[in-house]
Amino acid sequence: CGIVGYVGAPDGAAAVDIVLDGLSTLEYRGYDSAGLAVPSPSLAVHKAKGELEALEDTVPRGDLAGALTGIGHTRWSTHGEPSDVNAHPHTDEAGRVAVVHNGIIENYQRLRDDLTEAGVAFRSETDTEVVPHLIGRYLDRGAAPEDAFRRSIDQLEGSYAIAAVFDGSETVYAARQDSPLVVGVGETGTYLASDVPAFVRHTDRVCYLENGDFARLTGNKAVITDDDGNPVDRPTETVAWDP
Ligand code: GLU
Repeated sequence: CGIVGYVGAPDGAAAVDIVLDGLSTLEYRGYDSAGLAVPSPSLAVHKAKGELEALEDTVPRGDLAGALTGIGHTRWSTHGEPSDVNAHPHTDEAGRVAVVHNGIIENYQRLRDDLTEAGVAFRSETDTEVVPHLIGRYLDRGAAPEDAFRRSIDQLEGSYAIAAVFDGSETVYAARQDSPLVVGVGETGTYLASDVPAFVRHTDRVCYLENGDFARLTGNKAVITDDDGNPVDRPTETVAWDP
């Protein structure tokens, strides 16, 4: 239901703080569970059913304080009951990628059946979990992270705002179809969210993704591309912020 992503500039803030703070501003959207992933120095995922407080109690903030990259999610379940396991992020079996998703993947059952047949063991009941496993299969075959991400997204039907991080990589990848995503570029880092309040206190320079867009966020910029990988120019807008 709510997505937040962040890649800090070298002097940026702790991702865990930005992500938890951002998720709290999206509470109005309603949710039944929450989670976050930090990819460096190695991929760590924390999630909990219930209020954001339950997640905050689970997250070892001290251990994660040095991490400048992260993604977070508040879930409004559509496929699978509210539970710790069904909360996002979801990962592939080897723990190389973590994915958060808003929306509904309409063809998930067929994808799940194919992956199960190929030997993948699913842990959750969500439609979302097909995504990290698809990515994992491309990684197995030697694809680079961005390529694996794009090829996996290409197989999805339905509505999605998706963000992913890869083990050890200070990059956030995102894709959008019929579910909102907005990018923010600031002095202290690059931001991603399903709605502007999640990061507007850090930057008011925003860029709305359109259907079919992909985004690659690093500490100092966001590159937005179309389905074929060609850069697309989305206007940067300055939004009003009333603290
Ligand atoms: N369909 C996904 C799930 O049930 C995402 C729901 C959402 O948008 O939060 O886990």
